[in-house]
Amino acid sequence: MIPSSLSQFVDRLEQIRRTLPQTVPPTVRLIAVTKQVSAEVMRIAYDAGIRDFGENRIQEAEDKQAELQDLTDVTWHLIGHLQSNKAAKALELFSWIHSVDSLKLAQRLNQIAEASPDQPKVCKPKICLQVKLLPDPNKFGWSASELLSDLPLLDECTRLDITGLMSIPPYGLEPSETLSVFTQTRDLAEKIRQQNCRYIQMQELSMGMSDDYPLAIQSGATMIRLGRTLFGDRS
Ligand SMILES: *Cc1c(COP(=O)(O)O)cnc(C)c1O
Repeated sequence: MIPSSLSQFVDRLEQIRRTLPQTVPPTVRLIAVTKQVSAEVMRIAYDAGIRDFGENRIQEAEDKQAELQDLTDVTWHLIGHLQSNKAAKALELFSWIHSVDSLKLAQRLNQIAEASPDQPKVCKPKICLQVKLLPDPNKFGWSASELLSDLPLLDECTRLDITGLMSIPPYGLEPSETLSVFTQTRDLAEKIRQQNCRYIQMQELSMGMSDDYPLAIQSGATMIRLGRTLFGDRS
Protein backbone atom coordinates (compact mmCIF):
# COMPACT_ATOMS: atom_id res chain seq x y z
CA MET A 1 0.00 0.00 0.00
CA ILE A 2 1.36 3.36 -1.02
CA PRO A 3 1.11 6.05 1.65
CA SER A 4 -1.26 8.64 0.26
CA SER A 5 -0.99 11.27 2.94
CA LEU A 6 1.58 12.92 5.11
CA SER A 7 0.08 11.56 8.34
CA GLN A 8 0.25 8.00 7.01
CA PHE A 9 3.88 8.47 6.14
CA VAL A 10 4.71 9.99 9.50
CA ASP A 11 3.05 6.94 11.12
CA ARG A 12 5.37 4.67 9.16
CA LEU A 13 8.42 6.58 10.23
CA GLU A 14 7.26 6.40 13.83
CA GLN A 15 6.73 2.65 13.49
CA ILE A 16 10.25 2.22 12.15
CA ARG A 17 11.66 4.22 15.00
CA ARG A 18 9.88 1.94 17.48
CA THR A 19 11.51 -1.17 16.01
CA LEU A 20 15.01 0.24 16.22
CA PRO A 21 17.29 -0.97 19.00
CA GLN A 22 17.43 1.36 22.02
CA THR A 23 21.06 1.99 21.28
CA VAL A 24 20.68 3.43 17.78
CA PRO A 25 22.80 6.50 17.49
CA PRO A 26 20.86 9.40 15.98
CA THR A 27 23.57 9.55 13.36
CA VAL A 28 22.30 6.52 11.43
CA ARG A 29 21.24 7.94 8.13
CA LEU A 30 17.91 6.74 6.79
CA ILE A 31 17.89 6.56 3.02
CA ALA A 32 14.41 6.27 1.54
CA VAL A 33 14.66 3.89 -1.40
CA THR A 34 12.30 5.34 -3.96
CA LYS A 35 12.67 3.04 -6.96
CA GLN A 36 9.21 2.70 -8.54
CA VAL A 37 7.88 5.36 -6.15
CA SER A 38 6.33 8.38 -7.87
CA ALA A 39 7.65 11.91 -7.46
CA GLU A 40 4.32 12.76 -5.84
CA VAL A 41 4.81 10.24 -3.04
CA MET A 42 8.43 11.31 -2.70
CA ARG A 43 7.16 14.80 -1.97
CA ILE A 44 5.09 13.38 0.89
CA ALA A 45 8.23 11.70 2.22
CA TYR A 46 10.08 14.99 1.91
CA ASP A 47 7.38 16.81 3.86
CA ALA A 48 7.73 14.17 6.58
CA GLY A 49 11.40 15.08 6.91
CA ILE A 50 13.16 12.68 4.53
CA ARG A 51 16.19 14.28 2.88
CA ASP A 52 17.98 11.22 1.45
CA PHE A 53 16.60 9.39 -1.57
CA GLY A 54 18.06 6.17 -3.00
CA GLU A 55 17.49 5.15 -6.59
CA ASN A 56 18.80 2.23 -8.61
CA ARG A 57 18.23 3.41 -12.16
CA ILE A 58 19.77 6.40 -13.87
CA GLN A 59 16.85 7.24 -16.13
CA GLU A 60 14.23 6.99 -13.40
CA ALA A 61 16.32 9.19 -11.11
CA GLU A 62 16.84 11.77 -13.83
CA ASP A 63 13.11 12.00 -14.52
CA LYS A 64 12.21 12.37 -10.86
CA GLN A 65 14.97 14.86 -10.15
CA ALA A 66 13.49 17.00 -12.91
CA GLU A 67 10.08 16.86 -11.21
CA LEU A 68 11.54 17.57 -7.77
CA GLN A 69 14.12 20.19 -8.63
CA ASP A 70 12.56 22.66 -6.20
CA LEU A 71 13.66 20.37 -3.32
CA THR A 72 17.18 21.71 -3.21
CA ASP A 73 18.33 20.18 0.08
CA VAL A 74 17.84 16.55 -0.96
CA THR A 75 20.79 14.17 -1.21
CA TRP A 76 20.53 11.58 -3.96
CA HIS A 77 22.13 8.16 -3.53
CA LEU A 78 22.74 5.64 -6.28
CA ILE A 79 22.32 2.16 -4.83
CA GLY A 80 22.07 -0.03 -7.95
CA HIS A 81 24.62 -1.51 -10.31
CA LEU A 82 26.22 1.10 -12.53
CA GLN A 83 27.48 0.39 -16.03
CA SER A 84 30.68 2.19 -16.96
CA ASN A 85 29.06 3.89 -19.93
CA LYS A 86 26.63 5.64 -17.58
CA ALA A 87 29.26 6.68 -15.07
CA ALA A 88 29.38 10.33 -16.17
CA LYS A 89 25.62 10.68 -15.96
CA ALA A 90 25.60 9.04 -12.54
CA LEU A 91 28.09 11.58 -11.22
CA GLU A 92 25.91 14.43 -12.42
CA LEU A 93 22.83 13.04 -10.73
CA PHE A 94 24.10 11.56 -7.47
CA SER A 95 26.27 12.84 -4.62
CA TRP A 96 26.69 9.33 -3.26
CA ILE A 97 27.33 6.11 -5.15
CA HIS A 98 26.96 3.14 -2.80
CA SER A 99 27.28 0.51 -5.49
CA VAL A 100 30.81 0.84 -6.79
CA ASP A 101 31.46 -2.83 -7.37
CA SER A 102 34.65 -3.15 -9.42
CA LEU A 103 38.09 -1.63 -9.79
CA LYS A 104 37.29 -0.84 -13.41
CA LEU A 105 34.22 1.18 -12.44
CA ALA A 106 36.10 3.00 -9.67
CA GLN A 107 38.86 3.93 -12.10
CA ARG A 108 36.34 5.14 -14.65
CA LEU A 109 34.60 7.34 -12.07
CA ASN A 110 37.95 8.65 -10.93
CA GLN A 111 38.89 9.55 -14.50
CA ILE A 112 35.65 11.47 -15.04
CA ALA A 113 36.01 13.26 -11.71
CA GLU A 114 39.55 14.27 -12.61
CA ALA A 115 38.34 15.73 -15.89
CA SER A 116 35.69 17.88 -14.18
CA PRO A 117 37.55 19.86 -11.49
CA ASP A 118 34.98 22.69 -11.48
CA GLN A 119 31.84 20.68 -10.81
CA PRO A 120 31.48 20.13 -7.06
CA LYS A 121 29.40 16.94 -7.17
CA VAL A 122 31.34 15.38 -10.00
CA CYS A 123 34.87 16.21 -8.90
CA LYS A 124 34.81 14.49 -5.48
CA PRO A 125 31.99 11.94 -5.35
CA LYS A 126 31.26 10.04 -2.15
CA ILE A 127 31.63 6.34 -2.72
CA CYS A 128 30.98 3.06 -0.95
CA LEU A 129 32.64 -0.12 -2.15
CA GLN A 130 30.06 -2.88 -2.59
CA VAL A 131 31.12 -6.19 -1.13
CA LYS A 132 29.65 -9.65 -1.52
CA LEU A 133 30.75 -11.70 1.43
CA LEU A 134 28.73 -14.80 0.51
CA PRO A 135 28.54 -16.13 -3.04
CA ASP A 136 25.43 -14.72 -4.75
CA PRO A 137 24.89 -15.00 -8.51
CA ASN A 138 22.33 -12.16 -8.37
CA LYS A 139 24.67 -9.60 -6.90
CA PHE A 140 27.72 -7.63 -7.88
CA GLY A 141 30.59 -6.77 -5.58
CA TRP A 142 34.02 -7.71 -4.30
CA SER A 143 34.76 -10.71 -2.15
CA ALA A 144 36.85 -9.83 0.90
CA SER A 145 40.06 -11.18 -0.61
CA GLU A 146 39.47 -9.53 -3.99
CA LEU A 147 38.88 -6.20 -2.31
CA LEU A 148 41.99 -6.44 -0.17
CA SER A 149 44.08 -7.15 -3.24
CA ASP A 150 42.52 -4.26 -5.22
CA LEU A 151 42.99 -1.85 -2.32
CA PRO A 152 46.32 -0.33 -3.42
CA LEU A 153 44.91 0.57 -6.85
CA LEU A 154 41.67 1.87 -5.34
CA ASP A 155 43.76 4.08 -3.08
CA GLU A 156 45.20 5.67 -6.20
CA CYS A 157 41.71 6.84 -7.22
CA THR A 158 42.35 10.07 -5.36
CA ARG A 159 39.42 11.98 -6.85
CA LEU A 160 36.99 9.58 -5.17
CA ASP A 161 35.97 10.11 -1.58
CA ILE A 162 35.88 6.42 -0.68
CA THR A 163 34.03 6.43 2.63
CA GLY A 164 33.18 2.82 3.44
CA LEU A 165 31.47 -0.42 2.42
CA MET A 166 28.05 -1.37 1.13
CA SER A 167 26.74 -4.88 1.72
CA ILE A 168 23.59 -6.77 0.70
CA PRO A 169 23.14 -10.27 2.13
CA PRO A 170 21.74 -12.90 -0.24
CA TYR A 171 17.98 -13.23 -0.19
CA GLY A 172 16.39 -15.78 2.14
CA LEU A 173 19.02 -16.21 4.84
CA GLU A 174 18.25 -17.00 8.47
CA PRO A 175 18.54 -13.95 10.73
CA SER A 176 21.69 -15.36 12.32
CA GLU A 177 23.29 -15.75 8.88
CA THR A 178 22.27 -12.24 7.89
CA LEU A 179 23.73 -10.91 11.11
CA SER A 180 26.94 -12.76 10.32
CA VAL A 181 27.17 -11.07 6.90
CA PHE A 182 26.79 -7.68 8.57
CA THR A 183 29.37 -8.32 11.26
CA GLN A 184 31.77 -9.66 8.63
CA THR A 185 31.26 -6.44 6.68
CA ARG A 186 32.08 -4.40 9.77
CA ASP A 187 35.16 -6.55 10.43
CA LEU A 188 36.33 -6.14 6.85
CA ALA A 189 36.04 -2.36 7.16
CA GLU A 190 38.17 -2.57 10.29
CA LYS A 191 40.73 -4.71 8.50
CA ILE A 192 40.88 -2.19 5.67
CA ARG A 193 41.40 0.61 8.19
CA GLN A 194 44.43 -1.27 9.42
CA GLN A 195 45.99 -1.32 5.94
CA ASN A 196 46.90 2.35 6.36
CA CYS A 197 45.63 3.50 3.00
CA ARG A 198 46.48 7.09 2.21
CA TYR A 199 43.07 8.18 0.97
CA ILE A 200 40.52 5.44 1.53
CA GLN A 201 38.32 6.05 4.58
CA MET A 202 36.22 3.37 6.20
CA GLN A 203 33.79 5.14 8.53
CA GLU A 204 30.57 4.32 6.65
CA LEU A 205 28.67 1.03 6.53
CA SER A 206 25.73 1.11 4.13
CA MET A 207 23.77 -1.96 5.10
CA GLY A 208 20.26 -2.91 6.15
CA MET A 209 17.02 -3.01 4.15
CA SER A 210 13.38 -3.40 5.19
CA ASP A 211 13.72 -7.01 6.32
CA ASP A 212 16.98 -6.74 8.20
CA TYR A 213 17.77 -3.17 9.23
CA PRO A 214 17.64 -3.78 13.01
CA LEU A 215 20.34 -6.42 12.59
CA ALA A 216 22.37 -4.08 10.43
CA ILE A 217 22.17 -1.29 12.99
CA GLN A 218 23.17 -3.72 15.70
CA SER A 219 26.26 -4.47 13.59
CA GLY A 220 27.28 -0.85 13.18
CA ALA A 221 25.42 0.33 10.05
CA THR A 222 25.74 4.07 9.51
CA MET A 223 23.30 4.20 6.59
CA ILE A 224 20.18 2.05 6.19
CA ARG A 225 18.30 1.82 2.90
CA LEU A 226 14.55 1.35 3.35
CA GLY A 227 12.03 0.90 0.57
CA ARG A 228 9.05 -1.30 1.39
CA THR A 229 8.73 -0.40 5.08
CA LEU A 230 8.31 3.21 4.05
CA PHE A 231 6.37 2.94 0.81
CA GLY A 232 4.75 -0.49 0.79
CA ASP A 233 5.34 -3.34 -1.63
CA ARG A 234 6.59 -2.61 -5.11
CA SER A 235 4.59 -3.99 -8.01
C1 LIG B 1 15.51 -2.06 -3.31
C2 LIG B 1 16.73 -1.86 -2.54
C3 LIG B 1 16.68 -1.53 -1.17
C4 LIG B 1 15.39 -1.39 -0.40
O1 LIG B 1 14.82 -2.64 -0.23
P1 LIG B 1 13.50 -2.84 0.66
O2 LIG B 1 13.48 -4.29 0.91
O3 LIG B 1 12.37 -2.34 -0.15
O4 LIG B 1 13.69 -2.03 1.89
C5 LIG B 1 17.88 -1.32 -0.51
N1 LIG B 1 19.06 -1.45 -1.14
C6 LIG B 1 19.14 -1.77 -2.44
C7 LIG B 1 20.49 -1.90 -3.05
C8 LIG B 1 17.99 -2.00 -3.18
O5 LIG B 1 18.10 -2.33 -4.47
